[in-house]
Amino acid sequence: MEIMQELLNIPSPSHLLNSELLKNKQLKLWVKRDDLIHKDISGNKWRKLKYNIEAAKKQGNNQLLTFGGAYSNHIAATAAVGKVAGIKTIGVIRGNEFSSLNSTLTFAKENEMSLHFVSRNEYKRKTEDEFLKMLKDEFGPYFLVPEGGANEFGALGCAEILAEENEEYDFICCAAGTGTTASGILNALNENQKLLVFPALKGGDGLKSDILSYFNNANKESQLQMINDYHFGGYAKIKPDLVDFTNSFYEAHQLPLDLIYTAKMMYGLFDLIQKDYFPRQSKILFIHSGGLQGNEGFKNKGIKLIF
Ligand SMILES: *Cc1c(COP(=O)(O)O)cnc(C)c1O
Repeated sequence: MEIMQELLNIPSPSHLLNSELLKNKQLKLWVKRDDLIHKDISGNKWRKLKYNIEAAKKQGNNQLLTFGGAYSNHIAATAAVGKVAGIKTIGVIRGNEFSSLNSTLTFAKENEMSLHFVSRNEYKRKTEDEFLKMLKDEFGPYFLVPEGGANEFGALGCAEILAEENEEYDFICCAAGTGTTASGILNALNENQKLLVFPALKGGDGLKSDILSYFNNANKESQLQMINDYHFGGYAKIKPDLVDFTNSFYEAHQLPLDLIYTAKMMYGLFDLIQKDYFPRQSKILFIHSGGLQGNEGFKNKGIKLIF
């Protein structure tokens, strides 16, 4: 673990954003650059792995098994952490129809992750005891990290994101898939702060209760606001509008966003700012949770990004 800490850019820096719109609305917006934590171990995926790895080591287990889709940031990050920290990693991948490896899976393989492909139906059994035991019979004892690093250890690591910050922010914004990151941040809020969560997928009701449950966050429900209007049709769905925004945002700020999570959130945040959602003088912190490796998949499908 000590070797890891030295290689990581933690605490990650927070950059104040300059823009006419922010000036006009008298708002201040900082971006916390968790995307800069490590070139291959993207932002919140490191935060979520940190205490999972510690728990595995405590158990004397040097093999992590986890789950993900073929483009998963979590699969890429787990593979990279494993390689750097000398831990064996097994990735159970959704879908067995691939004839060649995409950029994410090639990367995972280069980092010595064993890839195990299962059908979409089998993949649905990822939390069933029987299925997990079958994997144990096949691979030997492993420490299970759930899909997306979504467990209490994951949330614990994400609580540290805010603990690193000194500025008194009024609003924190984060993107959500499983909600683990949001759960950690919510837990770390002081009583004057609000958390805005931007889901990258449709249908956020279950998500809200997950965010309240990884930690016992029930007493913080009033500080949590789900912003459900900016998923662009669902997980990994994009529209030309989003791509244009991401490119012009890069042009204006030299800040790369990932199309699945942080671009949708920034688009939504700027829309809310336009619509005067925030009181004047508010201080806002945008968590750039990383995920940039995922853009390669879109580029390979012909989506034009200028970075
Ligand atoms: C995985 C990921 C998320 C979602 O995090 P959860 O803890 O699953 O909600 C957000 N942003 C980026 C860039 C990610 O890669």
